[in-house]
Parts: sequence; structure tokens; C-alpha cells
Amino acid sequence: MLVDRKQTVLYVEDNHLNMALMHHIFKKNLPSVLLLKAETAALGLQIARRTLPDLIILDIGLPDLNGYEAMERLQNDELTRPIPVLAISAFAQRSDIERAQNAGFSGYMTKPFQVKALTEAVEKLLAGID
Ligand SMILES: [Mg+2]
Repeated sequence: MLVDRKQTVLYVEDNHLNMALMHHIFKKNLPSVLLLKAETAALGLQIARRTLPDLIILDIGLPDLNGYEAMERLQNDELTRPIPVLAISAFAQRSDIERAQNAGFSGYMTKPFQVKALTEAVEKLLAGID
């Protein structure tokens, strides 16, 4: 295990405003965490496999694969399977939340982001508590 390795979070999101907001949240509330960014699922999967981040925040509505398909690929890859994944979606129905739980996500947050709740969820997942 490397000492002083910076914790890394990969955010997969196609919406630029959400990406900018997340960047701002990390800069302000999680300054010691390195935020990696991907605008498509394909790029996100590639970066996940290459960098093995400590946490992935995954938008459900992506232009290439949807978040569930991307999650399935992460789960089917032994390298990325252990990484916790926090789903982010505009879909807030009870059935959407249940679907996300069944898909193996470590958490599910709805847009628009609640800054405090998001920060706390990320902190908890990085600390290995859920
Ligand atoms: Mg989207």
C-alpha cells in the first residue's frame, strides 16, 4: 500500500454544468481528493480501469451507455468490481432508487445536487463506511 496516496474520485457526467458544480464542490469541500472527469461512459470505463479510483460517481443518463449498462461493465471486470459507485440521476421515483440498489450501487443521489448531502456521501464512501 502506498503511503500518502491521494484519494481519487472519478466523475462520469455528460452535463457540463453538473461537472462544473462537482468540480467546485470538490475544490471547496474535498480539497485533498483528486477529481477525475469523463464525459462518456466509454471514457469513464477506460479511466476507471487504468486509474482504479477510490470511488466512482456515475450519472445515469449518459449519451453512449446508460449508467446501468456502465455499472454492469464495472461489475463484470474484476479490476473495477471492488470500487464503490455512487449513482447520480434526475430520476427520483421510488422504483428508480430500488433499481439502483439492485444494480449494486453504493448510493443514489438525485439532481439537483444537495451540496452537503453529496459531500457527506463522498466522505463516507471514501472512509469505507456505508
Ligand atoms: Mg447526463
